[in-house]
Amino acid sequence: MNRRFALTAASALLASLVSQGAFAADYPEKAVTIVVPFAAGGPTDKVARDLAEALRKPMGGQAIVIENVGGAGGTLGATKVSKAAPDGYTLLLHHIGMATSPALYRNMQYKTLEDFEYLGMINEVPMTLVGRTTLPAANYAELAKWLDANKGKINLANAGLGSASHLCGLIFQQQLKIDMTTVPYKGTAPAMTDLLGGQVDLMCDQTTNTTSQIESGKVKAFAVSTPKRLSTPALAKLPTLDESGLKGFNVTIWHGLYAPKGTPKAVVDKINTALKAALKDADFLKREEALGAVVVTDARVNGAEHKKFVESEINKWGPVIKAAGQYAD
Ligand code: ASP
Repeated sequence: MNRRFALTAASALLASLVSQGAFAADYPEKAVTIVVPFAAGGPTDKVARDLAEALRKPMGGQAIVIENVGGAGGTLGATKVSKAAPDGYTLLLHHIGMATSPALYRNMQYKTLEDFEYLGMINEVPMTLVGRTTLPAANYAELAKWLDANKGKINLANAGLGSASHLCGLIFQQQLKIDMTTVPYKGTAPAMTDLLGGQVDLMCDQTTNTTSQIESGKVKAFAVSTPKRLSTPALAKLPTLDESGLKGFNVTIWHGLYAPKGTPKAVVDKINTALKAALKDADFLKREEALGAVVVTDARVNGAEHKKFVESEINKWGPVIKAAGQYAD
């Protein structure tokens, strides 16, 4: 390299660092969009809208806008963000589907561990097995008998391959050794509408979407997906699937926040600082707790930590999904 070229390259690098620094210092200067890869009104959407409220102040008062890009189990929304400008103005709020999709989609348009800047984990959410009110079963033992007697006729709603409801339903069928007809939706909000209308029989869905429906008796609740019973008053009486005979059943959903790869580090750091503050917001904590979700406030609200965790989840669920032989092109 000759001296003149080296000097030009060095000053170009310096200029880019200075402009990135100036850009980061002013960030955010306009509304920030969080893409939710599922339909409005569902569990992930609820977390995102509550988080958006809590983020507003630590993000300098800028509006945080939610954009629902549902479909293909969350992969359409994730694809959109992976290809968005890496400027901190388009973020993705996604869940365990970040880790299950690589094993399900043969032609996924993004690489989970390479195409995003990881901003941190948000919360953990248990799931509940719920059914239409007209099901002739008052508890899990009666449901198990009904499922056995109705093999080949049972419908199970989910939010598409790669969704949390898909994963929970898949393990449920595997452990029961009963195949059900799965009915995919763009999110569990529209799936819940059909469950309330009695068009589908069952769904495994996050407490953030089912708690109020269980409380008001609009769905029948049979069990929870976690190894321990829940403390949320509306859900405390529900047995675990593990204690109901499906030994070792343990599906807990987590959510995280992501930015497109290449977002300047100073911007990533600013969002992470704002996220940490939002996750301590008293109103946010209260709302999440009432819906059975546990907000993460420890070292996991960190990009590097969260990325390591997602990688471990890919390694954990990949073999389970592959063993089930499910995939999409
Ligand atoms: N989280 C999805 C939703 O918000 C549902 C799912 O993953 O099952 O609709």
